[in-house]
Amino acid sequence: MLKKIADKIWKLGLDSNLYFLDFDQKIIIDTGNRMKANVLKLLLPKIVLLEKIDKVIFTHLHYDHIGNTDMFPNAEFFASKQEIKDFKENPEFTVLDAEILARMKFLDEKLKPLVNMNCLQIINTPGHTRGSVCLWYEKAKVLFTGDTYFGGNIETGIDLCVGRTDFPNSDDEEMKKSLTKLKKIIDGNNDVIICSGHDYCGAD
Ligand SMILES: [Zn+2]
Repeated sequence: MLKKIADKIWKLGLDSNLYFLDFDQKIIIDTGNRMKANVLKLLLPKIVLLEKIDKVIFTHLHYDHIGNTDMFPNAEFFASKQEIKDFKENPEFTVLDAEILARMKFLDEKLKPLVNMNCLQIINTPGHTRGSVCLWYEKAKVLFTGDTYFGGNIETGIDLCVGRTDFPNSDDEEMKKSLTKLKKIIDGNNDVIICSGHDYCGAD
């Protein structure tokens, strides 16, 4: 359930995947499904005290990625500007606590709010939702792909497995462009580790 992905990077399956980055600042990417709160409570404290988490970054705001926010009382929460805007205007899209949504900070490719996190690059990847982001940690060649990309060959389409684009705030055309962005990273680096939002399609 709790799995080490690379140096200082851990994965916890909570219906969607939570990733913990044990950097100078302690960072969580996506907080899993609320239904799996017990698993989070039981396993994550084995490697980090939950109150020590500094920052939580959401790849997007679908309900299965944003549960359990109350378990990180001292964290700042981030999502892309587009994603926050969309979900504020359409609160029925999310189960995110209104108070958390109100104090959520914008994430953008310039990393402005993330002064101590320059090691982690944010890539805007609209498609699954208009405000979806992926994160690229070049040092360990780890690519966090949220629900944008799960696996397979982006160019040939062989075994290609990507997120749904039939939601009201999805964009199929943008999805293609986003996948091309990811392909550049995957092609330009050896042995990129894909850390997707779900272990669909044989990905692990
Ligand atoms: Zn999703």
